[in-house]
Amino acid sequence: MPNDPVDVLIIGAGASGAAVAWSLAETRMHIVCLEQGEWMKPHEYPSSGRDWEARRFGDFSISPNRRGRVTDYPVNDDNSPISVANFNAVGGSTILYAGHFPRFHPSDFRVKTLDGVADDWPIDYQTLEPFYAENDRMMGVSGLAGDPAYPDKQPLMPPLPLGVAGQTLARGFNTMGWHWWPSDSAIASEDYEGRGGCINLGACTVGCAQGAKASTDITYWPHAVRAGVEVRTRARVREITVDEDGLASGAIYIDADGLEHKIAAHVVIVACNGVGTPRLLLNSVSAQFPNGLANRSGLVGKNLMFHPYASIQGIFPEPLDGYRGPSNCIWSQEFYETERSRGFVRGFTYEINRGRGPVATAMNGVMADKIPWGPDHHRRFRDLYNRMTGMVAICEDLPEKHNTVTLDAELTDPDGIPAPKIDYTLSENSQRMLAFAIERASEVLRAAGAVDLITESPIAVGGWHLMGTARMGTDPERSVVNEWGRSHDVKNLFIVDGSIFVTSAGVNPTRTIQALALYVADSMKQRLANLFD
Ligand SMILES: Cc1cc2nc3c(=O)[nH]c(=O)nc-3n(C[C@H](O)[C@H](O)[C@H](O)COP(=O)(O)OP(=O)(O)OC[C@H]3O[C@@H](n4cnc5c(N)ncnc54)[C@H](O)[C@@H]3O)c2cc1C
Ligand code: SF4
Repeated sequence: MPNDPVDVLIIGAGASGAAVAWSLAETRMHIVCLEQGEWMKPHEYPSSGRDWEARRFGDFSISPNRRGRVTDYPVNDDNSPISVANFNAVGGSTILYAGHFPRFHPSDFRVKTLDGVADDWPIDYQTLEPFYAENDRMMGVSGLAGDPAYPDKQPLMPPLPLGVAGQTLARGFNTMGWHWWPSDSAIASEDYEGRGGCINLGACTVGCAQGAKASTDITYWPHAVRAGVEVRTRARVREITVDEDGLASGAIYIDADGLEHKIAAHVVIVACNGVGTPRLLLNSVSAQFPNGLANRSGLVGKNLMFHPYASIQGIFPEPLDGYRGPSNCIWSQEFYETERSRGFVRGFTYEINRGRGPVATAMNGVMADKIPWGPDHHRRFRDLYNRMTGMVAICEDLPEKHNTVTLDAELTDPDGIPAPKIDYTLSENSQRMLAFAIERASEVLRAAGAVDLITESPIAVGGWHLMGTARMGTDPERSVVNEWGRSHDVKNLFIVDGSIFVTSAGVNPTRTIQALALYVADSMKQRLANLFD
């Protein structure tokens, strides 16, 4: 019957929505996913054309405000030194992500115990380990076994090539005696499950037309759809509805023609990311939940964590291999765990990147005063082009209540739905960590032979990791969802994206977001009989 409730309604078809949909599909329940974006057409990606770098500043910008597609929603991030980056489509932000794919360390789940800051997670590394492995199989991970920074894990494909840039920096790390290892990447280094292996073109963050990069539209979704999950695109959810008992009863969404629809559901799973999820919950106001759905703790939208990033690039006298190859090559976790003598707690990962394309080289050079206008302009450009490489430091951000996602009083999306507003300040701990990361990176770059440096801290456009705004915990006063992703206040409502992170760790989050989504799905399957009690 058309108006019969579906068994499970998933909102958001990105990294986490795809994983939870695929895992639940084996139950043969009636599952529908609503996604405001569309299916992407990889042959239209900038990476298949010569203007790929220019389109990075237009319809494939990482900033929803700059992109301004009808499928996007604007974000007021004027009151934040870091602006939000995302993508809205089937595949979500994995369409643009770089696929750098580290796991959390076991210590990341226990920062209160170890360092007396923030909170411990209600689950540990061992709980997630089987789901990390399952997600690795579905996404396809390249890497090298044996990294001393981690418990044992087996990558599925050989590591991506280090290239001249990777080898050059690895020599620098060797000189310093510091840890480095080939990065785990969600990029196929050889043909994998119908996807072509990486051909090293180097345009990963505008969409990989080759299909080597594991965006979830080409990994999880085809399997989930074949197993019966329905994806409704151009379906922008305005609010999640509740019944008189305070249970989630479905959602109201707007289609591509601006028409409003209602869908009824027995269970609702939110997977809209660390900004989209609190926005949706805060927009879902009812008599039972006047301050937003599932928000009796008042913590929906609080404790927003980005990873403050520092960029440290070296300029080398000899040519490197430029931007060719995926941006990931090696990482260093020499400064990952707390060492209080450094003046801050927790730590960071260095993600070593390759070079930049011509447009990015020119823009970086001009902004850093390395390429002046006038007679020397072209010569100075040539001094930089193919001669720049370096790293970013991904710094652990600690949760702070005053870093928030709220609703903007005026700004709306194209359907008139209130847009999110970000208020965020860099903590003193983060500032000290960024400064330390720049100093150490400068040392290693000089050791590798760099003759000059360009730094940026924090990376102003670097709000690509969105976490903490509906945190997980056992205490309903101090968290939004329980230890298996279920809302404390609304027992048929689940959250599976980075919102539920308790702390952020010093690594990119997506492998952990997806492992968590699979773990939540598994917990639901084990409790199917009493899910609605
Ligand atoms: C440029 C860039 C580079 C990155 N690089 C890396 C990296 O190297 N490694 C890494 O681990 N992570 C990286 N990330 C982050 C990574 O993409 C995210 O962590 C991940 O995609 C988050 O998954 P998610 O499911 O929480 O949200 P998303 O993947 O963002 O998906 C959320 C989905 O929900 C939909 N949605 C939101 N609101 C609504 C609504 N009201 N109605 C209907 N649909 C809605 C959106 O359209 C979107 O498709 C990068 C991100 C960017 C932008
Ligand atoms: S470098 Fe590899 S992963 Fe990146 S866009 Fe090209 S083929 Fe895809």
